[in-house]
Amino acid sequence: MEVSKIVENVAFNILKQAVIYLPDDVKQALKKAYTEETSETGKTQLKAILDNIELAEKYQAPVCQDTGTIIFYVKAGSGVKDLDKVEAAVISAVKRATKEVPLRPNAVDPFTGKNSGDNTGRSIPVLNWEIVPGNSLELTVMTKGGGSENVCLGGMVVPGEGIKGLKKFVVDAVVKAGAQPCPPNILGIAMGGGADVSMKLAKKALLKPLTEHNPDPEIAKLEKEILEATNMTGIGPMGLGGKTTVLGVHIDYAHRHPASFPVAVAFNCWASRRSTARISVDGTVEYLTHKLLW
Ligand code: SF4
Repeated sequence: MEVSKIVENVAFNILKQAVIYLPDDVKQALKKAYTEETSETGKTQLKAILDNIELAEKYQAPVCQDTGTIIFYVKAGSGVKDLDKVEAAVISAVKRATKEVPLRPNAVDPFTGKNSGDNTGRSIPVLNWEIVPGNSLELTVMTKGGGSENVCLGGMVVPGEGIKGLKKFVVDAVVKAGAQPCPPNILGIAMGGGADVSMKLAKKALLKPLTEHNPDPEIAKLEKEILEATNMTGIGPMGLGGKTTVLGVHIDYAHRHPASFPVAVAFNCWASRRSTARISVDGTVEYLTHKLLW
């Protein structure tokens, strides 16, 4: 099979996996939250979310009606041939998935308000490229819900305030967001680099499994502190009260200009959808986060 056909099939499969089957770490975290939630309303919401997840799997239907903006992360081995064909293959996969899964058409022209009808358009699906050594191509998809996207926030803290400023920025963002991002949420947080870099890193951090903590103990400690602080807000599942507002926090950073301290917080909703597969040089495919169930 030619490379572009393999890429198209894999992109289609991971997209279908992502919108139907939440990753295990997210399901486990939601189950744990259900057993630990003390608010009756919060518990009811978590039960509804867990039932929803089960029904989606049973009927092979998207776990949420908002199937999100489609974002791909491509890790391309420097030895992989035909990289110039990957984008077109991914776009074909998105169009096919929109019809066959089906996905809600979520790509709208900001000037005319016209929906393209197939989840593609200018710069959509988003493709983030990384060139790495080797001969394999790793594709990851994230489908990012609109409600959680609406409250993503970038800003600048006073450099003198440093990490203290970052913490305040994040907690304020969570309080301001309230029910909008369909909590419980996962937070990707980043600082440094510049306004664009910190938001890119924050969003990419949402791909990390909830079971994975930062290898730097200082950053892992900060992740825990922010998790605890945001769960003290009382916003709770779907914003109806409770102690489960945030399921997990991932922090990344880049070096910064001495005069600037860019910070960004990317929200993901409970329907935190991602899937990854690797295509080897001989065309074999390994699904890394999900089983192929069809
Ligand atoms: S924010 Fe997430 S859970 Fe809420 S409607 Fe959008 S995709 Fe669904």
